[in-house]
Amino acid sequence: MNNLNTLLDLSLAEVEELCQELGEPKFRAKQLFEGITQGKAISEISNIGTGLKQKLLQRFCDAPIKLHTKLVGKDGTVKYVYELADGNIIEGVYMSYKYGNTLCVSTQVGCRMGCKFCASTLGGLVRNLSAGEILAQVLFVNRDNGGDLKNRKVTNIVLMGSGEPLDNFDNVVKFLNLVSSEQGINISQRNISLSTCGLVDKINQLADLNLQITLTISLHAPNDELRKTIMPIANRYGINELLASVKHYFNKTKRRIVFEYSLIDGKNDSFECADELSKILKGVVCHVNLIPLNKVDERGLVGTNRKKAYAFMDRLTQNGISATVRRTMGADIEGACGQLRAKILKG
Ligand code: SAH
Repeated sequence: MNNLNTLLDLSLAEVEELCQELGEPKFRAKQLFEGITQGKAISEISNIGTGLKQKLLQRFCDAPIKLHTKLVGKDGTVKYVYELADGNIIEGVYMSYKYGNTLCVSTQVGCRMGCKFCASTLGGLVRNLSAGEILAQVLFVNRDNGGDLKNRKVTNIVLMGSGEPLDNFDNVVKFLNLVSSEQGINISQRNISLSTCGLVDKINQLADLNLQITLTISLHAPNDELRKTIMPIANRYGINELLASVKHYFNKTKRRIVFEYSLIDGKNDSFECADELSKILKGVVCHVNLIPLNKVDERGLVGTNRKKAYAFMDRLTQNGISATVRRTMGADIEGACGQLRAKILKG
């Protein structure tokens, strides 16, 4: 088995400690840290000598991810398929908008949440990603698009790739701190969204850390009964508890909450659902993102058509709830929401 330890798990202070332990001067730590933060493999950092590189490679993998495949969609969305040091495969999606470029990162290989409409959970959870493996996705894509640490090509991050971020809490929090660190790539926490299917205890824990990230809740149904039919997590936590934790998050951070609502034809897209949703969200400082369900072959559920999606949105708006229908990006390359999956390389 290849070494999965990565230098990207370390902060600058920790790289300094490491260099000290290896008998290297302090400025070497800076060079090393800068090299890996530029997205380089250890072997690619030109201002580090071979002796030190060899010592490092005894403890760490050369690079935690490498490119497996890159697919460019008609709308310019890019799907990155990466191979981890142990041969597992994860995916990410890079989208360009007027205001900047967003990278969707994965937090686990696979997922164990079991949502009925999502491809990421089809093979269950394979393993958690380390903080460095999540960070590596950002640094890789930034470099691949010609960005560096001053002129970033990844300006926004969404934790919406495969995996449930709050099911890998410690590594994800460590990643959030590393990626927003002034010494690192320094992406503002306000430009980062963490999406969760609703692990209430973890949302409360996250609130207490007082980060400035946007919390996004995958709600998809206005009541527990309906939610249970599509999201197993609804058997563990009721919507009441979920909304209480969300309000706690808002009170602590003052960050507006985003609710994701995937519209499934004939399931959760009636006006009654819109009205019920408006009722439960009354008083929550929030925005609702509507996404007509994207196709996942194995799932057999159908997305609501766009006309009906806009009617649902109008109904929410009339009820005083801020809502938009999200543009679907990257569906032709299976890079849209819910289409990312874990694959394991054979052989
Ligand atoms: N596990 C986290 C992160 C995944 S984010 C979460 O549940 O939030 C991916 C988003 O896409 C979630 O809102 C998820 O519910 C949604 N999604 C999953 N499958 C989808 C599909 N087939 N079409 C549209 N959205 C989907």
